[in-house]
Amino acid sequence: MKIQVVGVVGAGVMGIGVAQNLAQTSHQVILVDISEEILDKAKKEIKNNIRFQGFFNKNEKAENPDNILHRIKFSTNYKFLESAEFVIENATEKWDIKKEIYAQLDAICPPETVFAANTSAISITRIGSATKRADKIIGMHFMNPVPMKPMVEMIRGYHTSDETISTAKELLAQMGKEGILVNDSPGFVSNRVLMLTINEAIFLIQDQVASVSEVDRIFKTCFGHKMGPLETADLIGLDTILFSIEVLYESFNDSKYRPCPLLKKMVDAGLYGRKSGQGFYTYNRAI
Ligand code: NAD
Repeated sequence: MKIQVVGVVGAGVMGIGVAQNLAQTSHQVILVDISEEILDKAKKEIKNNIRFQGFFNKNEKAENPDNILHRIKFSTNYKFLESAEFVIENATEKWDIKKEIYAQLDAICPPETVFAANTSAISITRIGSATKRADKIIGMHFMNPVPMKPMVEMIRGYHTSDETISTAKELLAQMGKEGILVNDSPGFVSNRVLMLTINEAIFLIQDQVASVSEVDRIFKTCFGHKMGPLETADLIGLDTILFSIEVLYESFNDSKYRPCPLLKKMVDAGLYGRKSGQGFYTYNRAI
């Protein structure tokens, strides 16, 4: 049975992509963030992204962007999420923020509603502990940009039920995606490896071993990667990289996850990457 109404919490880089993808696959979306200003920016960004996508897929019959946008309700009020059959949470990668959000969702949404955490590193079992429905909590680690990435890393928390996994797989299929299911561990598979790689690449810059473009070119031309680690860092957002590596550091108590001081400095300076217009590279259009 088709899931009709999906709540999306957080209207940043990932929430925007998830909401757009859902609306384009005919779901009704309730997109919640903490300020009208952020939501207005998200609305503009989604509209631009739909137009941009239409420009590249000229052969496909494109739906009017306004019709797609009409399926998204933008609000700062969590109360509207009471009608959501499924919620995908994409808020800032900070445990204190997420803990509060899950307590609110748990109080507002019907007991059968599944909550999917689109987190980079926080344990899904830990997120489950912030609710009274740990069996209905699952990790759905979407890739960026969401509408263009067909694969999602799915994470089974300690209490996640088989029913929750099949509901989440069903929603992914409706969104035109597939999932690879892994067991819970901070950072899962992707970010236990990727965050260390990016952090080490930043140490290379700090130690002046090579320039930004040289580091990225080695990964692209020698290994055949589509993007180098520093371009990837700018795409993800340096603030999100820092928060994620801090989660890994705290979760494993292992010094191999200590964040590079240059990463901290760049975040303190507001150099977040693509979303701020400046990171390791400069971008014409800040998101
Ligand atoms: P972001 O900083 O771009 O956006 C986070 C959004 O959450 C902001 O708009 C913020 O206002 C909002 N927020 C904060 N507190 C909130 C609250 N109480 N209620 C509702 N909204 C709230 O971050 P992002 O890159 O979109 O990341 C969001 C989540 O997705 C993080 O957990 C991150 O680790 C994960 N993630 C990021 C990427 C990526 O490439 N950026 C990929 C996969 C997963």
